[in-house]
Order: sequence, then structure tokens, then C-alpha cells
Amino acid sequence: MKGKLTCLAGGAESRGNAWLYETDAARVLLDCGAEPNGETPWLSSLAEVDAVVITHAHWDHCAGLPGLFERHPKARVVATGPTKLSMARTLEGVLANRRTGEARASAIQDSLETVKFHERLKFADFELELEPAGHIAGAAMVRIHAASQTLLYTSDFSPFEQFSAPAATIGQTDVLVMECAVANVRFEKSWREDAWAELSSLNRATLIGVSIDGQAEEILAGFAANQIDVTVHESLASFVSTSYTLDECRHRLSSGEVVIAVGGDLEPGSPAGELAIENISNNSAWIVTLGATKGLASALRRTHRRSKLVYRGQSYGRVKCRHQHISMTNHATREDIVEAAESSQASQIVLFHNHADALHAVGRAIGKQTSADVKVADVGTTLEFPSSEPKLD
Ligand SMILES: [Zn+2]
Ligand SMILES: [Zn+2]
Repeated sequence: MKGKLTCLAGGAESRGNAWLYETDAARVLLDCGAEPNGETPWLSSLAEVDAVVITHAHWDHCAGLPGLFERHPKARVVATGPTKLSMARTLEGVLANRRTGEARASAIQDSLETVKFHERLKFADFELELEPAGHIAGAAMVRIHAASQTLLYTSDFSPFEQFSAPAATIGQTDVLVMECAVANVRFEKSWREDAWAELSSLNRATLIGVSIDGQAEEILAGFAANQIDVTVHESLASFVSTSYTLDECRHRLSSGEVVIAVGGDLEPGSPAGELAIENISNNSAWIVTLGATKGLASALRRTHRRSKLVYRGQSYGRVKCRHQHISMTNHATREDIVEAAESSQASQIVLFHNHADALHAVGRAIGKQTSADVKVADVGTTLEFPSSEPKLD
């Protein structure tokens, strides 16, 4: 049999992810992401596919679904159960400004077919298997089995255990197509213990802003596992048994509690953003951000305490709170990526989803450790799978 995998979106320099695997007999789309501005340039020329596999509920992997259903209303879309559960939130965000957006988001969610990890999906001349990816609850890697070879598409993954998701194991595979979201960032080996040591020692009034898309779940599970009581805003009610209104959170914050609310970038309008703005000028609670690179959170990072904070042209007065940024990631770090490449024993490795420079740099690091043929994908990159060359073992 002959087959090929094509990068439709999400190589170097593009953000949404979509890959097409096709043989003469069947076609499957791996992920259906959109660019940050919501565009899916590849979708207009996409012919009918036999199935769409969504690896996890992040927008860069599923935000193209509304557009896909407009063109192919009967599309068969599969995902794990937890991914199906969290996807409504992502799609509601995507469709927020559209009429009947919420109804459309839930209609798409309803039509999703769930698959379990390691359950095989059979197509005419290949099979697909989902494997745990770490990253966020429900996240999956996709293994394609064809002509006694395998191709592993990792999507976002983390080979370390988290409180909310088991670790991904990159087992032996012939071809490895690896997402490298934080390939440009170096983490110390002990980053995870260090981050949790800091979070576990918070014992004064502290506001923690978290993003809703997996980070909130992980942070709450982590505090629960460490048996630390925190006050949780009702924006996170689905993850906890007791949650509090904004007013109650405000009081608890000023009486010295640790408060957790949605707003990873402390964006104005989010509960964490509201509380942060109050604390910047009149209170002395600490503000903790975890992975933010945007919004008020990054403005705060650049502003020294007691200097004036100006954000989006508006002045928020002198900063009275203390801001602490704790580096965390739910992605394979650069070191993890090189280790995954080694443990895969793959003869062909394709890297995607980051700046080209970072991908080439991590590619060179892999080249030093393995004899694999390493490529950096871009939109339009194709690879033959299964390869026609006989295996050497
Ligand atoms: Zn992701
Ligand atoms: Zn991603």
C-alpha cells in the first residue's frame, strides 16, 4: 500500500494544527486547528475525509471544527471522552461573537464520537490508535499502523506525569511526527518540583490567575494532592465541590487566603483580572501568574513595584502588590523532545509547531543523539508512510 501524510497547517511559523493522512482507500484528518485570528486557509480545498481525529481541546487543534462542519456537515469526528467534555468551552470561545454560537458549539460537541486510549479505529488499509499524551486531561497522541510500520503523531505532549494527566510514553516507532511547542524555551531539570515547592509555600494573601484550558485543572489537582486549602472562584466550579463569588473571593483574599480564578493573562473582564486590578493599586496581596506571556500579566512582569502601571493606554496607578511569575509548562521541554526522539528509535523524525529557528536548533540536537533523518515541517510538507524502503531488521 501507499500512503502519505501532509502538513496542512502548523509547521514552522503557523499556529493552528492540521495534518492529512491519505492512502488510495481512505483519508483521515489529524487535528482541525485554526490560526489565532480564527482563519483556516487549508479548509477551503479539503475534500471529504473518512474521519477527523481531535487530539485535545486546545483551539490550535480544534477551532477549525465549526468551519469543517459548514463544509462537511456529516463529518465523523472522534476524540477521547475528556476531550469531548472540555471542547464545548473552546468552541464557545471560537463562536462567541456569532449568532447561535453557543448552540452550534454544543451541537458540534454532541456529534463527537468518543474513543478510548488503545482502542483501534479501523480504516480500509490502516488503523489508528490513540495513546495518552500527558499535556492536559484527555490529550492523545495518534499512532498510525500501516503495513507493519507505525507513525506516531504526538500533537502536544508531556513525557512527565502531571496531577491531571498521566505521562506520555514515546515508544518505538518507525516515523515520529513531533509537536515542539516550547522547543525555544529551556527549563531546568527540576522545574516541576521547584514550581510546586513555590506554590506549596504560598501562605499569605495571594491571587493566582489560571487559564481555563487545562492549566486550571492541573493547578487545582496539584493543590488537592498537596492537601493545601485554597479559595476557588466560581468560574472554576466544575472542578471543585465548593466555589465562591467574586465578592467572597475579594474578602477571602484580603483576609490572607490563596484565591484561584480564571484569567491566566489577568485579562480585564476575567475574574482574576478584576481582582488583580484592585490589588495593583489598593491592596498588598501577591499576584502569581504561571505561564502568561500576554495581557496585564506581562505588563505587570515588566513593571517594578511602586512604579506606575500603564496597560492598553490606561494608568492603574502605582503598583502596590507583589507579582511573582512561576514558570510552568504542560509541554515537553527541549530536553524532553531530544529524549523522546532517542527513545522512539525512529528512522524518520518530523518536527513542527514553533519558530523555524527553534525547530532547526532542536533538530540539530536530535541529530547529535540519533541517526534519524530529521526534518522541520512547513505547510505543504509531505512524507511517505509506510515507507517503501524495506526495514533493515
Ligand atoms: Zn495543546
Ligand atoms: Zn498545540
